[in-house]
Amino acid sequence: MSIQNHFCLMCGTRMVPEKLEGRLREQCPACGWIYYQQVKLSAAVLIEEDGRILLFQRAHEPWKGTWNLPAGYVEVDETPAQAAVREVREETGLEVSITRLLGNYFFDDDPRGNGLLVLFSGQPVGGELRQSAETLAFNTFPPGALPEPLCGAAHDRIIREWAEGAFA
Ligand SMILES: [Zn+2]
Repeated sequence: MSIQNHFCLMCGTRMVPEKLEGRLREQCPACGWIYYQQVKLSAAVLIEEDGRILLFQRAHEPWKGTWNLPAGYVEVDETPAQAAVREVREETGLEVSITRLLGNYFFDDDPRGNGLLVLFSGQPVGGELRQSAETLAFNTFPPGALPEPLCGAAHDRIIREWAEGAFA
């Protein structure tokens, strides 16, 4: 955990590490403000058609070139389901209807920070599949022929669980 080079959001003073409530946290020596690190919230949609899963190849780091589900961070004024629908629209051109909440996946392998991925299933209800600036390629895959490498941040776990029939 990085605890250096941060400045207080309240007064701009350089924060210092302090052992607080049994954890090392950053605290402002001037005003006492404490920075509580929290997990980032993201949402993803599993879109399955004719037994095949829709996946995209990432155009950007981290995990550039790996395959993942349409997904992204939840903005502060939207629900995870709203974020999921928005991300699918932005990354794929498809309009989806959320059908089920499939689960929540904690991940600690993302260089941008630990997070919780809320996974939904979705069904295309409009739009048109197209490449976006965020994707190098897209395709659908059957359980026995997944692409490699798969993206981290829980995408790899989810895609393999899907291939094993976990969401059937
Ligand atoms: Zn301060």
